[in-house]
Amino acid sequence: MLQQTQVKTVLPRYQAWFKLFPDIQTLASAHLDDVLKQWEGLGYYRRARFIHEAAQQIMHAHAGKFPKQFEAMLKLKGIGRSTAGAISSFCFDTPTAVLDGNVKRVLSAWGNQNYHEKELWLIAQTWIEKTTTPDLWNQAMMELGATHCQAKKRACALCPVHTSCQSAFTLPPKKASTIKVLDVHWQVDVYQHAQHGIWLEQRPSSGIWAGLWTPPIQELKEAPQQTPHLIHQLTHRRIHLYLNDKHDSPMGVGSWFQSWEGLAIPTGIHRLFEQRSKC
Ligand code: SF4
Repeated sequence: MLQQTQVKTVLPRYQAWFKLFPDIQTLASAHLDDVLKQWEGLGYYRRARFIHEAAQQIMHAHAGKFPKQFEAMLKLKGIGRSTAGAISSFCFDTPTAVLDGNVKRVLSAWGNQNYHEKELWLIAQTWIEKTTTPDLWNQAMMELGATHCQAKKRACALCPVHTSCQSAFTLPPKKASTIKVLDVHWQVDVYQHAQHGIWLEQRPSSGIWAGLWTPPIQELKEAPQQTPHLIHQLTHRRIHLYLNDKHDSPMGVGSWFQSWEGLAIPTGIHRLFEQRSKC
């Protein structure tokens, strides 16, 4: 949950998650729709699909027990070297480095260099092998980046490594954003029927809002001559949403629903309908 999402957003969701999926077996046997529903609003839904798939892998390949071996962890869906390094060091006290955005920033500041990924891994691994408490080391490095050595603001006077840091008391480097945001225009066809309710379709299993439920969506080739009803911002996409009330019968593969309670609906669609109810 913490990949790309802030701690304060995650905390209540984390507790709710464990109430519903208290162990690997429960999660593995849950329906994907329920897993996605529980992830609603956190974004990056592929994390929910990955954790669900990883739970199923653990049931099948490891008899329901989370594997202790680092290499076996790397084979689980959604777990890369850094996440495996964190799990392994926190749970099994192994000297396996974490290299998330926070740790990268601290290491770069500490050496006052723009290191390549390979160099960063080498430095991170070298340091962790020198400690006797790799779990604490990894947590400390991540916390240092999240609290004292932030991308826009540094608290060097409070930082425990300021006497050895090559960038102490200098300003953080200004970084030009490398994220390219693409504008897309989507027409949302709303079929609403007094008796049947609302027509919803499940999105394909890959791409934006994969596996979530929405009214039929048509991607428009160009921006229409009207103001969008809502602009929903994702990291790499700015989605312009246009409501289109339909009065004929839906043609696609979907279902009528009296309510969308219990279905995983993207935040953008929730917001669009909130907007609609105000008009
Ligand atoms: S001393 Fe300052 S620049 Fe160096 S790691 Fe600490 S907060 Fe970052």
